[in-house]
Amino acid sequence: LDLRPEDLNSIDELGRGNGGTVCKVLHVRTNTVMAQKIIHVEANINVRKQIMRELRFMHDCNSRHIVSFYGAFMNGGDISICMEYMDIGSLDNIYKKNGPVPLDVLKHIAYAIVDGLIYLYDEHRIIHRDLKPSNVLVNSQGQIKLCDFGVSVRLINSVADTFVGTSSYMSPERIMGSPYSVKSDVWSLGITIMELALARFPFPPEGTPLSIFELLQHIVNEPSPTFPPNKFPFLLTDFVDMCLIKDIKLRATPSDLMKHKYLVSIGSEKVDLERWAKSLSGAPQRIDLSKLQTKK
Ligand code: ATP
Ligand code: MG
Repeated sequence: LDLRPEDLNSIDELGRGNGGTVCKVLHVRTNTVMAQKIIHVEANINVRKQIMRELRFMHDCNSRHIVSFYGAFMNGGDISICMEYMDIGSLDNIYKKNGPVPLDVLKHIAYAIVDGLIYLYDEHRIIHRDLKPSNVLVNSQGQIKLCDFGVSVRLINSVADTFVGTSSYMSPERIMGSPYSVKSDVWSLGITIMELALARFPFPPEGTPLSIFELLQHIVNEPSPTFPPNKFPFLLTDFVDMCLIKDIKLRATPSDLMKHKYLVSIGSEKVDLERWAKSLSGAPQRIDLSKLQTKK
């Protein structure tokens, strides 16, 4: 699909992050609703062209737990990435509006993330690098998909030059600047799952507000967070504990996690994810595509 900026009609702004803005757009020629992420890249034209080449690789990422990619284009100093629009939105907004994620649904979310990470790493040697609730998206069919993974290391670096490249989902070894691996994604998964179950970020333990610097120090120096005793199922607690082992050598890989008892039973546990997704508040109303088209 040859995407050109003039073929996209903006419908709505979906949100803003550190590096860019995401808009809901209509691709007029194909009548497809997409999410367009616009990232301002402070880099010379050659680097931007290299980034564009690296992004093309996203066409090869096809998995039911990865957001589909329609294409990317440059527009002045901006790079746009057009991806599948996920109408229920990201898990951070979902829990903030609806409270803790029900535990049966949470298990399917954990499964989808682990499967997505295995796909990215085993098939493409991609480390996600930015796993967190805002990068896990849900649609009204109840599908759960990862987005914003690190296909283009050059893009990550160009954005990190202009923005603080630190996140409270980073593993201790990443905070310390040590070599990291796909196990660093596993740490971020553990934090994400705890956050969804508790409906709050699991640091610091007693709700004392910390600056981002203090928070990162806390992650490196203090014991890992764990669920409060006896409030959550043992297997869930154990699963998260495996993700949050500080020693990277001992921490689980995504493939180890897939064999964990918490996830092996997944096939026999029927959960109506579609019903869950549709029950969430903030589910958007249907849009009238014919009206939008005549706008142009
Ligand atoms: P950060 O920049 O720190 O990674 P973020 O993930 O919240 O934070 P963006 O990636 O710019 O920032 O996304 C902004 C918001 O847009 C997200 O929180 C999400 O709710 C929404 N969003 C992103 N991609 C899509 C998509 N494909 N479909 C629907 N909503 C999306
Ligand atoms: Mg994001």
